[in-house]
Amino acid sequence: MIQFQQVSKRYPGQHDALTDVSFHLAQGSMTFLTGHSGAGKSTLLKLIARLETPSQGQIQVAGQNIGRFSPRQIPYYRRKIGIVFQDPHLLHDRNVFENVALPLLITGQFSYQEIGKRVRAALDKVQLLDKENTTPVRLSGGERQRIGIARAIVAKPQILLADEPTGNLDAALAEEILNLFIQFNQIGVTVLIATHDLALISKMDIPQINLNQGQVT
Ligand code: ADP
Repeated sequence: MIQFQQVSKRYPGQHDALTDVSFHLAQGSMTFLTGHSGAGKSTLLKLIARLETPSQGQIQVAGQNIGRFSPRQIPYYRRKIGIVFQDPHLLHDRNVFENVALPLLITGQFSYQEIGKRVRAALDKVQLLDKENTTPVRLSGGERQRIGIARAIVAKPQILLADEPTGNLDAALAEEILNLFIQFNQIGVTVLIATHDLALISKMDIPQINLNQGQVT
């Protein structure tokens, strides 16, 4: 599903953030991306989401060389991918329903009825259906992160990327969030989670890609 072939990334004026990275993630797999702060985890996720482009090497996602996309193809490609951040960056002047609906509204493809159906299905999966009219400031940290996850999956992505999704949460909430990712993986979504939460990693028998100073170890 995701294949890196000798990928390097150098930001302007910097040393290599990633050097000669190669790996393959099968469709429907779940993987932790581990490594110290500054190891290149976020860069790797941004390359998959086509938010950055490699300085060298090739990235194939779902059989497509994503480096060859024209600017017009990129938004369509991104619809295949849901992204969860450490801080979900919810819009505080919109309620929960509106925050989760955003990715669908942006495409302009869905009827109001379809949006309602999909948003409620996503909220149901993260068990926050009863909060659809609440404003994000009224939610706990764990609930906010679950809203971020609902927003990431509302467009039914094939791939779910997460960048330190449990970084702001205590151990019990972190495990709850991880269990949500496991559930999405069980219905076929390919999941890649960047984390340096060693307690979380040790709890689950999930394959890892480890980065050390931009290289896979
Ligand atoms: P991690 O997510 O593992 O903490 P990052 O991918 O954020 O690592 O960073 C890897 C390296 O790339 C670091 O040295 C960081 O300073 C550098 N870096 C990340 N983003 C940028 C950027 N936009 N411009 C310049 N350097 C960057």
